[in-house]
Amino acid sequence: MTSAAEPPKTDPTGSILHVAVPAPLFSCFDYLIPAEIFQQDLTPGCRVRIPFGRRKAIGIIVGRSQHSEIAKNRLKPIDALLDSEPVLSREILSLLQWAASYYLHPVGEVMQSALPVLLRQGKAAEPKNIIVWRVADGTTMDDIQTLQRAPKQQQLLQRLLAQDTALDEEQLNALQLNWRGAMKALLEKKLVTRAEKPCLTVAPIDSIQGPSLNDEQQQAVDAIAKDLHRHQIHLVHGVTGSGKTEIYLRLSEAVIADDKQVLILVPEISLTPQLTERFRQRFKQPVAVLHSGLNDQQRLCGWHSASTDHAKLIIGTRSTIFTNIPKLGLIIIDEEHDGSYKQQEGFRYNARDLALVRAHKENIPVVLGSATPSLESLRNVTQDRYHIHKLYKRARSNVATRIKLIDMCSQPMKEGLSAALLDNIDQHLKKGNQVLLFLNRRGYSPLLMCHECGWTTSCKRCDAHMTFHKHKQQLHCHHCGAETASPKQCGDCSSNELLAIGAGTERIEQFLNERFPDVFVNRIDRDTTRKKGALEEKIQHAHGGEACILVGTQMLAKGHDFPNVTLVGVLDTDQALFSADFRASEHLAQLITQVSGRAGRAEKPGEVLIQTHQPNHPLLQTLLHEGYEKFAEAALEEREQAGLPPHKHLAMLRCAAIKTEAGHAFMNEARNLIQPDNTVDIFGPVPAPMEKRAGRYRTQIMLQSAERKSLHQCLRQWLPQLAQLKSAKQVRWSIDVDPYDTY
Ligand code: ADP
Ligand code: ZN
Ligand code: ZN
Repeated sequence: MTSAAEPPKTDPTGSILHVAVPAPLFSCFDYLIPAEIFQQDLTPGCRVRIPFGRRKAIGIIVGRSQHSEIAKNRLKPIDALLDSEPVLSREILSLLQWAASYYLHPVGEVMQSALPVLLRQGKAAEPKNIIVWRVADGTTMDDIQTLQRAPKQQQLLQRLLAQDTALDEEQLNALQLNWRGAMKALLEKKLVTRAEKPCLTVAPIDSIQGPSLNDEQQQAVDAIAKDLHRHQIHLVHGVTGSGKTEIYLRLSEAVIADDKQVLILVPEISLTPQLTERFRQRFKQPVAVLHSGLNDQQRLCGWHSASTDHAKLIIGTRSTIFTNIPKLGLIIIDEEHDGSYKQQEGFRYNARDLALVRAHKENIPVVLGSATPSLESLRNVTQDRYHIHKLYKRARSNVATRIKLIDMCSQPMKEGLSAALLDNIDQHLKKGNQVLLFLNRRGYSPLLMCHECGWTTSCKRCDAHMTFHKHKQQLHCHHCGAETASPKQCGDCSSNELLAIGAGTERIEQFLNERFPDVFVNRIDRDTTRKKGALEEKIQHAHGGEACILVGTQMLAKGHDFPNVTLVGVLDTDQALFSADFRASEHLAQLITQVSGRAGRAEKPGEVLIQTHQPNHPLLQTLLHEGYEKFAEAALEEREQAGLPPHKHLAMLRCAAIKTEAGHAFMNEARNLIQPDNTVDIFGPVPAPMEKRAGRYRTQIMLQSAERKSLHQCLRQWLPQLAQLKSAKQVRWSIDVDPYDTY
């Protein structure tokens, strides 16, 4: 037994372990190695359990050496080594270290964000098998009769008998029966059997042969396939429906045939089921899927299948870029322009940019795909850094979509819909076609207003109104998440006359239900798709092709292929035309181009109607008459004049404080700490465009430079000084390198 006075027995060679700990610290921590394990492989990337302050934490080994800047008698030994194989490969460790340094984020937190939750908690890296239940051989409908006195068991058995395949926990939960007790009883009666299977298996599916490629596709595939063995960035710029996914499939085929793995990044969860299905059908292979809609076990399963090379195809949203993929041969980034690739809080990385870094480090190619490439990527093409492959033709239709503006000025309007648009909806529905209406605002109305005195439902914690959700009879703040029951009376004068001002998707849906009583109105937004499986169900319905009106937010604008939609209506463009955000016009152009691509995908010609009060706006005019590329050229020129990305590089220091004075104190001190440098311009501190949010007052300082290197040099000097400021303790602050917006 060791007494308290005796130091613990540690590595006789005296080596020190450097560990990244999950804490807001910019350097690693040093630990001693217990004597029992000093001869084991303490490989970088393995997890260790460590004492950290008064708690225990899970850290990642980043190195081992003889040196520590801390006196050895002040170091503690680690508690345990958790892995025999690294959970973060050498490549990933190197990527993460690069990212921590580039985004100036604490390295331990960066490493945490790369791991599935269960691994962060110190659980085993092997995923559990999945337990499945099915009816036993010989169990028949007759057995149901014997369960007269146990209605729950009866119900469950009936459901199981109706299934051809075994059901897992999740599928059973979806039946909405309280099934566990009943299942146990059925097992005891030997009416059902229970089995375990590996977490990732291929369900039997009919494989589907791909179409033969058209000339444009073939050219792109040939050009990229020639280059599969080295690092090169390819941009596939193809109009919606031009068959980009088909190109991804062909290239993946070549990479897998070479015994390598393919990583496909998608911006949104809602895009994964369709895409995943296409890959599964084509390859008859397990596809590892990773996104935040999965439970912890499923995520671990996807992660493990990728890191053991069990899955050749890995599809996921932004954090999937940090997955170990030992034989990575190609990265595909679908909808590369999409803002979801940038994480907007905590570790503020951009997965698209990190994918390029990773591909460069691993000497493999990247394929970026989009119908509306980001201005960044288009500029890289003009500078010959990316190879571009253009697809002008739609794969399954030759008809061009007609885009027209509806001038809303002095038009009669109903709930945000002009008479002209309603007429058109009528005509398209009469032909048995589908209509898609797009409005980036959920809820019933963006605010309630008192008809007597003008009082409005504003959020107490934000400079914003609270959105009225009629069905729930609630007000929600879409900025801070606050929810309250909706008021029956004015908060000022107690009048009962509260008006719903403006229209969101819920209101449009209700109105359309009244206006077109025989037509199904399929609303797709975050509110109607919260339940698991709801989105799939709604999309499935739309695919059925029956005449209907789809109403939705940007969830609908992305990637979905609805062949029967012949009319797309964009209900509100004016808000984006007047936004203070420097990317707003780029987003609007992308959105209009993307939603236009939803119309007339099959043999039927499509039509797009855009409602605006600004029909002569140069952006809309360029886009309509000259197309996205010309728009992008003009927008890039504007950015150059304004010194904005991609011409110059930005970083933001953001501060959020409960007391305004605390915020000012910190930001002023921060401002004074910046070393004057004539290559970096500094703006601020100024209040954020939405100054108060979630009860905090927000200010920002923007740094702008034509040279990345000087910008980073400046930030690196600045950051440690900021952390030292006393005033920093009173506020929340963060640095955002390459911010997505300046909000
Ligand atoms: P994108 O990814 O550019 O939107 P997709 O790859 O999804 O386009 O293709 C759109 C539709 O056209 C899909 O239904 C796809 O199966 C079909 N398609 C793609 N390429 C071809 C082709 N060469 N011949 C026939 N159909 C094709
Ligand atoms: Zn709020
Ligand atoms: Zn009032």
